[in-house]
Amino acid sequence: MIIDFHTHAPQKGDFKVFLQDMDANKIDLSVLCPLGTTVTEISESNDYIYELTKQHPDRCIGFASVMPREPDAAKTLEHYIKDYGFKGLKLHPPIQNFSPIDPLIGPVIEKCIELDIPILFHTGPIYSQNSITSFGSPFLLDELSIRYPKAKIVLAHVDPLAGDPAIVYKNPNMFCDITLRVAYLAQVIPNIGSFLLHQLRGDDNRILFGTDANPNRSWRFKYNLDAVYNMDIPEESKQKILYKNAAKLLKLDVA
Ligand SMILES: [Zn+2]
Repeated sequence: MIIDFHTHAPQKGDFKVFLQDMDANKIDLSVLCPLGTTVTEISESNDYIYELTKQHPDRCIGFASVMPREPDAAKTLEHYIKDYGFKGLKLHPPIQNFSPIDPLIGPVIEKCIELDIPILFHTGPIYSQNSITSFGSPFLLDELSIRYPKAKIVLAHVDPLAGDPAIVYKNPNMFCDITLRVAYLAQVIPNIGSFLLHQLRGDDNRILFGTDANPNRSWRFKYNLDAVYNMDIPEESKQKILYKNAAKLLKLDVA
């Protein structure tokens, strides 16, 4: 079994191709994350993902997004979780233009704790000129995790060469996804998998497989998968990364 914890579903894209490529790579389930920079864009993206999860309930899991500083953001999020059946929150601080430690996002974080859902945060570099790179700093997630020890915070695109694994390790409420960064690094550092595990002091329970694939970039399934298959880590750790940890976090009943 394979669960891809981090994919996207832009409206401009043939979702049939995405499903075919999931099949080709033996990916059972994909978490679909919305993208957008305004309330309207995000709401349209959430609605589109809802349609896809209704059409393909056995292949897709929806995550919601909201503009977290909006006064009604917590209520909006609750609607997506309770009425749409979404299983988590995706936030992209640089493109959504907020800091993860902005007190105004407090009600949204508290709502996630109340609903017991994970929050997937983009971290790392961003190439759009007007996005503030520091909002994507894992250091801010460290501070947020300390402030909200009951929030389940997922650091996306973990960088094993930076301080990221230490941040995840020291905060028991944190997880990381290996989306793209680890696969990039694997091209130049073949033992990056065991290095990541070493930096996490051997804790293989908080690493999640993700690809950032979307219907226009479905080559990312294989690209990220190959990195895991080639890791010099125990087979049981690979199984945890590929689906067991995600299933637990998403409360899925899988064999
Ligand atoms: Zn992404």
